[in-house]
Amino acid sequence: MERIFGRPIVTQEEMRARIRELGKQITADYADKDLILVGILKGAYAFYADLARAIRIPMRVDFLVVTSYSSKENTSGKVKMMSDLTEDIAGRDVILVEDIVDSGLTIKYLTGALSKRKPKSIRVCTLLSKPERRKVNVPIHYVGFEIPNRYVVGYGLDYQQKYRNLPYLAVLDTVDDEGQGF
Ligand code: 5GP
Repeated sequence: MERIFGRPIVTQEEMRARIRELGKQITADYADKDLILVGILKGAYAFYADLARAIRIPMRVDFLVVTSYSSKENTSGKVKMMSDLTEDIAGRDVILVEDIVDSGLTIKYLTGALSKRKPKSIRVCTLLSKPERRKVNVPIHYVGFEIPNRYVVGYGLDYQQKYRNLPYLAVLDTVDDEGQGF
């Protein structure tokens, strides 16, 4: 059977409201700081664009492009960095923006690697978190939504590099009579 997305797990309205709240919180927390918002591509691109515009302080933007191997092959959580930051983060306040924290291995690896560059502070903001799946304990400061252990697509998240442009988040399911097309 072909795998395809099903019903929305988070609607566009819910997402918009939650991102506004996160933006307000970050705006208050970083009012006097030298914020650099680091997006982890490709998955975080949609969330990043909306979050950045909900933050109302002058800040820098930058991006990392990473490819993570699936958890089965990748127990160390080592990610392949395809493209590095263009800005120096030393002495600055970094927020890493992630699409989803699953085992936690990717974020653990990235916060470890970036900490060596001596930022003043480093926090993580993720749109989604699957707490049931966590293998390592990593501090995550800002969480959009906690979701159950299901594979989700849309709003930046892919299945085999597709569905990232779906405007809402949906559970990837086995197709049945109710399976919907894109
Ligand atoms: P972790 O290292 O926390 O196990 O995995 C993080 C990465 O796995 C995410 O950045 C994302 O690329 C991928 N991932 C984990 N769960 C999902 C999911 O439900 N859907 C999609 N599309 N990717 C996921």
